[in-house]
Amino acid sequence: MTKHIFVTGGVVSSLGKGLTSASIGMLLENRGLSVRMQKLDPYINVDPGTMSPYQHGEVYVLDDGSETDLDLGHYERFTNSPLTRHSNYTTGQIYQSVINKERRGEFLGQTVQVIPHITNEIKQVLGKLAGEDVDVVITEIGGTVGDIESQPFLEAIRQYSLDVGKENCVYIHLTLVPYLKAAGELKTKPTQHSVGQLRQIGIQPDFLICRTERSLNHDERAKIALFCNVPVEAVIEEKDKDFSIYEVPVSLVENKLDELIVRRLGLPAKKLDLDHWHDLLHRLRNPKHEISIAVVGKYAEHHDAYKSIYESLDHAGIENLAQVRIQRIHSEAVEREGPERLLAGVDGILVPGGFGERGIEGKIEAVRFARERGIPYFGICLGMQCAVVEFARNVIGLAGANSTEFHKDTPHPVICLLDEQKTITDKGGTMRLGAQPAKLTPDSRVAEAYGREEISERHRHRYEFNNVYRQQFAANGMNVTGTSPDGSLVEIIEVPDHPWFVAVQFHPEFKSQPTRAHPLFAGFVAAAVARHGQRSEQPQEVDSP
Ligand code: GLN
Repeated sequence: MTKHIFVTGGVVSSLGKGLTSASIGMLLENRGLSVRMQKLDPYINVDPGTMSPYQHGEVYVLDDGSETDLDLGHYERFTNSPLTRHSNYTTGQIYQSVINKERRGEFLGQTVQVIPHITNEIKQVLGKLAGEDVDVVITEIGGTVGDIESQPFLEAIRQYSLDVGKENCVYIHLTLVPYLKAAGELKTKPTQHSVGQLRQIGIQPDFLICRTERSLNHDERAKIALFCNVPVEAVIEEKDKDFSIYEVPVSLVENKLDELIVRRLGLPAKKLDLDHWHDLLHRLRNPKHEISIAVVGKYAEHHDAYKSIYESLDHAGIENLAQVRIQRIHSEAVEREGPERLLAGVDGILVPGGFGERGIEGKIEAVRFARERGIPYFGICLGMQCAVVEFARNVIGLAGANSTEFHKDTPHPVICLLDEQKTITDKGGTMRLGAQPAKLTPDSRVAEAYGREEISERHRHRYEFNNVYRQQFAANGMNVTGTSPDGSLVEIIEVPDHPWFVAVQFHPEFKSQPTRAHPLFAGFVAAAVARHGQRSEQPQEVDSP
């Protein structure tokens, strides 16, 4: 019988429920259990695919092409739980499904209501990941207890334990214990109120995870336990991590949370073996190099918009024993101020994915700067398209070359829509989405990095390299080194006559883990480390234009 863990949050948002859920998943997997992860988001959008990265951060794409919440990125970085479209549901999807059923007459004339129809739909979703081969499903409820829109989800998880048995469900509530400077003490009242609200709905949390900047002393723990109706050992401290998010699982173990959960659920679990995780933290703490990588994007000020890219750079740093200092460069600033002032001195330049024209010319300038100065360059999706446009204009001499996304009537549409995509006008679901296989050219830099010639990577884009120009690019020194298996779609380009210039049409950042850096990120960071080493030996020569 599959057991269920529900993770809710209270007091404030952004407490790191996603990270905490992912860490719990990682610890249970490490103890030999088979885990599935799921996030339920109370907003009404059907999926985050069309939401602004300013508001919602990056859209995380799964193998099956689902466009999901970025917390699912944490799940994949921490666990091996296979994620599918059943791993992320929103209020929008729940209502859409119920309304479709109503239109088909499936409710036989009943009045359709939040309870039981919406809550039943949610409960069905909670059961979707359970199965014979699954020991535990961890379901994170987005939002904060007390939000109007979260209520049907909380009601559904309350009912769920009546359906499957109380002994099979664990409720974990993440809360904030703030430190008040004026009083000189930690305050437990917000936690008491938050748990009070949960208990009003009928949920008694089994464990409280208290986010705090200072350690809880015995009296504070005892007070929280008493007022929130849990044993003292169930009050778990999660102190702020100023060093790395990868410390979170270790701090949960220090509080014995994994032990308490398996005992509470009666799960047959192995002993923890976190050697590889401690090794990872050791590498993070003891870098041998320090490099700076510029990420040139249009959401430079918004950390979450490129979340998986930043994480992947960190993973590559761990692998290369390098501390990666990420410089977030606004592509419009490059347009205004030129690349020299903003990019001189960096060891690598990365242009990430994106949509729309704003800042495009700044990204193209950044590519030119990297190509001409021999600075390692990594282009991802739009970053590949910019590299192709830049090469067309400045090396091949195709004046005015562009992507038809930005200039419909460009004389040289080196990036364009394929015929089958031209007829699609709806937003969402119109893109090349999800995992697709690709084959690599033997002896290319990418084949060497991957150590194989067949790969599978995730996509999220509409536009493609225009094959009409392939020969011209090759003749001028930009090679296609990865394509779809039939050779028709360009997946990767490289400039062999450059220290490291690789750009890909897919999103490798969705497949990197802290203990297993993505080979292309690892290769890019290794090239940046090498450049940094050369520069410190002969700073003048390497940098002169
Ligand atoms: N806007 C480009 C396209 O649709 C690139 C998309 C991306 O970078 N994810 O093809």
